[in-house]
Amino acid sequence: MEYRTIIEPFRIHSVQAIDLPDMTTREAALDRAGYNLFGLHADEVIIDLLTDSGTGAMSSEQWAGMMRGDESYAGSRSFFRFEGVVKDITGLEEVIPTHQGRAAEKILFSVAVKDGDVVPNNTHFDTTRANVEFQGAEARDLVIPEGTDPAAILPFKGNMDIGRLRSTIKEVGVDRIPLVMVTVTNNSGGGQPVSMQNLRDVRAVCDEYELPFYLDACRFAENAWFIKLREDGYADRTPREIAKEMFSLVDGATMSAKKDGLANIGGFLATNDESIAMNARNLLILTEGFPTYGGLAGYDLEAVAVGLEEVLDENYLRYRIRSTAYLAETVAGAGVPIVQPPGGHAVYLDAAALLPHIPSHEYPAQALAVELYRAGGVRGVEIGTVMFGKPDPDGGPDSPAPMELVRLAIPRRTYTQSHIDYVGEVVIDVAARAESLRGLTMTQQPPWLRHFTARFAEMG
Ligand SMILES: *Cc1c(COP(=O)(O)O)cnc(C)c1O
Repeated sequence: MEYRTIIEPFRIHSVQAIDLPDMTTREAALDRAGYNLFGLHADEVIIDLLTDSGTGAMSSEQWAGMMRGDESYAGSRSFFRFEGVVKDITGLEEVIPTHQGRAAEKILFSVAVKDGDVVPNNTHFDTTRANVEFQGAEARDLVIPEGTDPAAILPFKGNMDIGRLRSTIKEVGVDRIPLVMVTVTNNSGGGQPVSMQNLRDVRAVCDEYELPFYLDACRFAENAWFIKLREDGYADRTPREIAKEMFSLVDGATMSAKKDGLANIGGFLATNDESIAMNARNLLILTEGFPTYGGLAGYDLEAVAVGLEEVLDENYLRYRIRSTAYLAETVAGAGVPIVQPPGGHAVYLDAAALLPHIPSHEYPAQALAVELYRAGGVRGVEIGTVMFGKPDPDGGPDSPAPMELVRLAIPRRTYTQSHIDYVGEVVIDVAARAESLRGLTMTQQPPWLRHFTARFAEMG
């Protein structure tokens, strides 16, 4: 008998208590935080789905690795272990550790990108975009058109639009394109995967114009699993073989080990370009640390080395992708509108569809996120007009974001199925009384990245 239930492929060895504060405490917390969930204390939250970045549980093997950490300043054993694992999975020659993903982006773009350049990507993650723009260059998103339609169901909605890549190269000229980047999975586009065929097609265009091709590899293992499930010819290949093939198509990669490194901190830049590596190491010494630790402790390098091996385990990936789909099916099955199909690391609730009576300048997704916290102590994050809308210089309504979403990101190996059932119950309860939800007004906002610190008041 083959049983249907896909279980968490681990047992719990060490636990941290969580607790639901009472309603008075939750109301007081919302009031203090100005209805901005970034202002909550984590202890005021029972299930925290704010992000999947660095919030996962490490394995006993990773903790054991931390005890083996070699803290030598130069040439530590832990560095060579880390380098060996990264080289084996990526096949890339030069491996530079960094304290997280954005540090790898910063050193790569500082040495490769200059004022007036254009960097194509399927969709830039926000730190990637900011680091490209910081160099005076343009970050251009070239995802296929279906990639921004919440309802379009496609196996590889994260793919780059090859036609638009070609027309961008023709329009701006090869000299102004320092590199082409593809993000796997496409985080800002709903965690949607990119097919191997699409990576091959991007490679072919890069070969034709002699352009370097880099992966933003943060969720490379989740992407490999989607290729195994959905792309012809990969069903019998291991996630490791698929990941190796993905990396074989590129000249380099940036990585946040807080995602598919299964670690709480860490990252790297890997490349086959010796001159980029040399310049990046010189900058690394200035900003991160000596090239054999790059802003990390020796024990962090060990945790990442073990995590990169564990993340490619089939049992882990089957459970990971299935548990995200399970939450999506629970809420969509009850009629709650979500971005389809669910991506690898998160479920995105479509607040524009759920709350048509709240206009975008009254922040429907923020109102939904606030109500999920008030009702059940669950924290998600608004990805809508608070995050991407622009204030009107004349004091009129904000310009709207393209979508009004609440992202429920699932930390790795952290919550059990009953935690997820609870989240489903809270979402379904709030959705059932959607008509009673009211919008918000923004009472205070900073000039940049306002979603982190803006304050709101609830409308009557
Ligand atoms: C998280 C993330 C980054 C940045 O990594 P940090 O470790 O948070 O600095 C870059 N790209 C993508 C796709 C990410 O998800």
